[in-house]
Amino acid sequence: MSAGAIAAAVRSGQRTAVDVLDEHLARISARDEEIHAFNLVTADEARAQAEAVDAAVAAGDDPGPLAGVPLALKDNMCTRGIPTTCSSKILEGWRPPYDATVVNRLRDAGAVVVGKTNLDEFAMGSSTENSAFGPTRNPLDPTRVPGGSSGGSAASVAAGFAPLAIGSDTGGSIRQPAAFCGIVGMKPTYGAVSRYGLIAFASSLDQIGPFATDVADAALMFDVIAGHDPLDSTSIADFAPQATASLDRGVDGLRVGVVRELSGGEGSVEGLSPDVVARTGEAVEALAAAGATISEVSVPSSTLGLSAYYLVAPAEASSNLARYDGVRYGLRVDAPTTGEMNTASRTAGFGAEVKRRIMLGTYALSAGYYDAFYGKALKVRTMMMRDFAAVYEQVDVLITPTAPTTAFPLGERTTDPMAMYVNDVCTIPSNLTGHPAISVPFGTGDDGLPVGVQVLAPALDDGLTFQVGAVLEAAAGGAR
Ligand code: GLN
Repeated sequence: MSAGAIAAAVRSGQRTAVDVLDEHLARISARDEEIHAFNLVTADEARAQAEAVDAAVAAGDDPGPLAGVPLALKDNMCTRGIPTTCSSKILEGWRPPYDATVVNRLRDAGAVVVGKTNLDEFAMGSSTENSAFGPTRNPLDPTRVPGGSSGGSAASVAAGFAPLAIGSDTGGSIRQPAAFCGIVGMKPTYGAVSRYGLIAFASSLDQIGPFATDVADAALMFDVIAGHDPLDSTSIADFAPQATASLDRGVDGLRVGVVRELSGGEGSVEGLSPDVVARTGEAVEALAAAGATISEVSVPSSTLGLSAYYLVAPAEASSNLARYDGVRYGLRVDAPTTGEMNTASRTAGFGAEVKRRIMLGTYALSAGYYDAFYGKALKVRTMMMRDFAAVYEQVDVLITPTAPTTAFPLGERTTDPMAMYVNDVCTIPSNLTGHPAISVPFGTGDDGLPVGVQVLAPALDDGLTFQVGAVLEAAAGGAR
């Protein structure tokens, strides 16, 4: 049952939220030992929330647009009094003193939080294998990764543990796992959704967004979580979410650009799998059949996105993660002096990938290298913003694959950071520009696993991503 259908049934009294919750908790008990989507299942808190929703319905009140809908939260969103780990040992035992704004908004809309989902430690990774608590498996094929870093959230939706999940996307962490798990994932315009209570990875790139089994459910959740929040200084002041209202607009007359450099065309980035390129081409044909005008466009700097990202993101991470010093949060490893205690705590608390990023970022920001690395990356970022602005003079939206391949086998890339990083080549540009983008399943690869196609739109045109996504979904045979 879709989130929309569940909410309608609960609001009208046809089903109770408790009954819906029990059904989902039963699925979690039956299969999450194998999948490991959750770091923590919050069954008691969920039951209390579901009972409150049912009480509201019984009293004749409207519990909201997500009444009784089970929801999985990536474990880098703060939940008051409930462990929030970022899948890192360094936050061991820490319980946030407040809820993230998205959590409050979702609860106020009637959603029922069923648990906290696994991720790559501090959201650094593309496979959820960098978790301190062990990997998550892809529900469609448990020998494969679910993608990352929001792999637990994507897997929980794909496995039917919850119809909706929340993820965060710094370089593709919502869209790539959505593609690998055959579901919908969307990264909003930077500032459209409050990041208050999201544990920071790279603050100029991080954005929270929805996972759902179909575009309409993702739109429903987007409209709940988006909008101004005075608690987040980067929140857009007058953003009015219109995702649901955009769903039925179609693409007749819309100008669609295929980004040559990210879709296997001339001068394209390497490593795009032929089956993924073929599905992307079919998606473009489907849009043409629905009335869109198609053209091939060039965004030359988009091929530099990966290099710029892997300087900007680690630089910001090295600064953000300085706060984990053994004093203020979670783990402390005692030692004779404060400095030694800081070192011992960080050495024991952080995993290999997080350490790699902190060192890379610190290096890129150090006095002698700042201009050559960090400064240069910022220039590339500005150049990309200009290139995309120029291309959006000619077209309304852009199409690319979401990820270069379908879900790869567990363990295949864990020893080769570069092989892992190239996963993000198509998703990173939207993070660097701050633009919205959605991934929608469109057919399968040669291995039978889902392929995701990505729709990019200019800043603030989040509605357009849902509008085009809905047409692609219909062409791909509707929701799963
Ligand atoms: N895979 C990318 C990285 O490792 C993106 C992660 C993300 O979006 N959180 O940084």
